[in-house]
Amino acid sequence: MFKKILVATFVAAGALSAANAQQAKPLNRANLDTTCAPCTDFYEFANGGWLKRNSIPPDKSSLGSFGILGDQNQEVVQKIVIDDANLVRDGEAKAGSNDMKIGNFYAACMDTTAMEKAGVKPLKPALDAIAAAKTTDDIVKLFGSRALRGGGGGGRGGGGGASPFSLGPQTDPKNSKLVILSANQGGLVLNREDYLGDNERANDRRAKYVEHMARSLELIGESKDQAAADAKTVMGLETAIAKVTIPQADMRDPVATYHKMTLAEFGKMTPHIDWQRYLQQQGAKTTADVNVRAPQYFTALDTLITSTPVDTWKAYLRWHVTNGAMNSLSSAFRKEAFAWQKVTSGVQQQQSRLKQCAAATNAALGEAVGEQWIKRNFTPEAKARAAKMVDNLVSALRDRINGLDWMSQQTKVQAVAKLNAFLRKVAYPDKWRDYSTLAIKPGSYYDNQRVVAEWNSERSWARLGKAPARDEWSMTPPTVNASYSSSLNQIQFPAGILQPPFFDPNADDAVNYGALGAVIGHEMTHGFDDSGRQFDAQGILRDWWTPEDASKYKAAAQLVVDQFNGYTVVDSVSHVNGRLTLGENIADLGGLTVAYHAMEKAIAGKPHPKIDGFTPEQRFFLGWAQVWRSLARPEQALNSLKTDSHSPNKWRVNGPLSNMPEFKQAFGCKEGDPMVRPESLRARIW
Ligand SMILES: [Zn+2]
Repeated sequence: MFKKILVATFVAAGALSAANAQQAKPLNRANLDTTCAPCTDFYEFANGGWLKRNSIPPDKSSLGSFGILGDQNQEVVQKIVIDDANLVRDGEAKAGSNDMKIGNFYAACMDTTAMEKAGVKPLKPALDAIAAAKTTDDIVKLFGSRALRGGGGGGRGGGGGASPFSLGPQTDPKNSKLVILSANQGGLVLNREDYLGDNERANDRRAKYVEHMARSLELIGESKDQAAADAKTVMGLETAIAKVTIPQADMRDPVATYHKMTLAEFGKMTPHIDWQRYLQQQGAKTTADVNVRAPQYFTALDTLITSTPVDTWKAYLRWHVTNGAMNSLSSAFRKEAFAWQKVTSGVQQQQSRLKQCAAATNAALGEAVGEQWIKRNFTPEAKARAAKMVDNLVSALRDRINGLDWMSQQTKVQAVAKLNAFLRKVAYPDKWRDYSTLAIKPGSYYDNQRVVAEWNSERSWARLGKAPARDEWSMTPPTVNASYSSSLNQIQFPAGILQPPFFDPNADDAVNYGALGAVIGHEMTHGFDDSGRQFDAQGILRDWWTPEDASKYKAAAQLVVDQFNGYTVVDSVSHVNGRLTLGENIADLGGLTVAYHAMEKAIAGKPHPKIDGFTPEQRFFLGWAQVWRSLARPEQALNSLKTDSHSPNKWRVNGPLSNMPEFKQAFGCKEGDPMVRPESLRARIW
């Protein structure tokens, strides 16, 4: 997993899902609903036919372009892991090779008989350690214990593992050449609002969560009564933690979350946590300053640590250790984990074991699988084509910045310097990750997950006190996503997204610029969104804006906040959080604007034929809209509203387009049409 703090992604991983084959034509008229006017609801116009024809498969929480392409990519992953497992079975995999590691990992995941036999045994060391705790300090020591970590392979939520915080290596926002420590709040399973909300939905979610906890605790051997009592106790403690947790939207502010201090100073803030001991427990070879991202949280947590009975903390730790490992344990645990997944995402049926294990292997050995995936699925020519498009988009944004009428020359020079310094990663790494020190043995799936977690943790801690690894990728090649990192000033586009419907070698420029071009523009714009703009060309948190330009920027950003606050999903009361989604919404608007002008440049001087009845300008916007067509279960949609920094798909289309005069012109919309916002409310940044 990569650090989310400084990385803005293009789509929430949780929103990805799947089905059938991608359409053959770049734009298919059958996907449109031409009974809906484009100037009334462009999302419906562009996708209505598709939305009516499709339904969400029972093992998915949503269905859309990202998920369908993701499934195609996963099919190649499945072939790779099965081939490697066969090589291992036939004695043809070389000892210590990636083939052997992949084959072993996948085979252990598929061996549900061994998981059944092991039962709750893999959790025994962690549960024994918790049982032995007698004092508050014993509890604090357990927060750092490696025995309580790993084995679950992630994907179950819960923040900082079994502890109510996380502390780990991270680039210093004010010195991008140095990895220091970063301390973060954590320790919750539900989102903060679900603990604190006083409405039917939150009440129901809490009740179901307590039942789920109780059933899970029974599975580790607690009596029915004990498990029910423990579940209530844990709910009480987690609610207390939620009360002092800072809302996610506030945590997006890089200045408000920068509080660098020595470890000794941090210790004074939290007298009941021995941070030196914590570092030793992690195997840290050195120490460093720490950026305490949420000081108020840690002060309050220190009080909670002593005011909460030791037995309550023990119940909390039992639950979190169990919760983190459920998918690597016997069928009773996996069934219970799925029962909860049903509640949170609305999914009806569990994915096949094969699919789960292929995805888990890809998550554990991403670049080993990725190296083979690229060989089977991607060419150097495709990489070169995508890199060229990135170059074109960078040059288009440079033109836009230089042409802005609201920005001073002084700020423009700095902005262009930052743009020119972008570290560009396209398709796949030049050098693949070396897994030679990672031993994956046949046998216990739980143990292999633990080994991988430990290996990743050691790699991460080894960077403490050094420069960050600039050449490493944070996403694996088959990923259908893209990212920007402020501290590296880096844009990253895995091969997984450089395919139809994002980039189609058979499509006209207009469609490709509307889809992949706008994706590239989106990630570049993150370097200049409300958070990203506060970092300079070297990835250093430093204010390089003139006060006047900064205040003009903020005024435009506020228009975007207000605009998205007005949008709802599922019903009329569930609103988008304009502040939480601001960075993404700015990136969509900026990305589209830049890509549109890059497209105009690319087609200038060439014939502009209508294709399927649409001009290139119209096809540009259709290209964008088709990327976002999606059906989502209400549970999934409502969950995303609270936790996802991206707006719901429909608003990722209609929101930015209704700000763009280019869209109005392309479809001949009039002032007053729903897809044309009043000029005074229209945001224009890039
Ligand atoms: Zn983004």
